[in-house]
Amino acid sequence: MAGSEFDIIRRHFARRVGAPEWLKLGIGDDAAVIQPPSGRQLVSTLDALISGRHFPENTEAASIGWKALAVNASDLVAMAAEPAFFLLSLSLPEDDEHWLERFADGLFRAANAFGMTLVGGDTCRGPLSISIQANGWVEEGGFVTRAGARIGDRIWLSGRIGDAALALRLLWREIDPQDVDAATTADCFTALNYPQPRLPLIPLIKAHASAAIDISDGLSADLGHLLDQSAAGALIDGQRLPLNDWLRSRAGDRDDALSLALCGGDDYEILFTAPAEATPAIRAAAQALPFALTEIGRITEAGRWLDTGERRVELDHYRGYDHFKG
Ligand code: ADP
Ligand code: MG
Repeated sequence: MAGSEFDIIRRHFARRVGAPEWLKLGIGDDAAVIQPPSGRQLVSTLDALISGRHFPENTEAASIGWKALAVNASDLVAMAAEPAFFLLSLSLPEDDEHWLERFADGLFRAANAFGMTLVGGDTCRGPLSISIQANGWVEEGGFVTRAGARIGDRIWLSGRIGDAALALRLLWREIDPQDVDAATTADCFTALNYPQPRLPLIPLIKAHASAAIDISDGLSADLGHLLDQSAAGALIDGQRLPLNDWLRSRAGDRDDALSLALCGGDDYEILFTAPAEATPAIRAAAQALPFALTEIGRITEAGRWLDTGERRVELDHYRGYDHFKG
């Protein structure tokens, strides 16, 4: 869209951008120029959202804008990095003014909420897809990886898992909307469409975490990645998993509800491990957080187990959420 491309950028993206100290040259030239604050390292990540794959085709444009940045910010949090700036690659089927307006609203609401500045990008015509390359700062050597979990470490999880996955099943009518109360339904759609990257966790992760990961593909898979990288095992206490009441009431006797919570994905919560000695300090700091922080288990030498209260089940057992029926 050579003709209107710069128009789109000017109208929807360039005009809302601020000028932080470290931004030497922003949108409008061939590339942006950034001067990292002294003593800081740059942490970079990129996530793409493709229509029909990462979000249903009729998703509200503001939600797409919000979520595209939120999922990237969540990766930065998992590294203990302070979100700073991002680049946006936007592929659009047409120059839809109304859609762009709402998309930019959601995007810049997220950018303001997370303290991030748009410094550049690319705009072209094609099937709807959004890629964001996001960047943050850490003090030198202050980043946290997936690799540091040690035997005996406690496993912590922010927020709640399973809400977004439940919203998708409601959307697809795999679960009858009449079976789920209105308040739970509303919470689940908020979790799906407006995930909250857990920025207030950054100081806690910096201070205490031995390893951390962002939960985007489901706790089971992402905990698995952390354990692979840490060469360790885990025992999860199924009764402590932070689930909404609807899922919790079905988790005891039905594998399906647990499968949805553990494998459904789209949670954008943070899982981190920390030495047992840090537990009192983490509990104290958790009081001030605007979301729950739950100790859900511990790191072991090997194996991946979930204790249901009655028996131990391998985490790999929980799959099959595709066949979830209310
Ligand atoms: P080029 O011809 O080098 O690809 P563009 O015309 O695509 O340059 O981009 C011009 C300027 O606008 C650049 O600074 C680029 O980073 C910025 N830009 C392009 N698309 C976007 C976008 N969707 N959001 C923010 N900045 C953008
Ligand atoms: Mg370009």
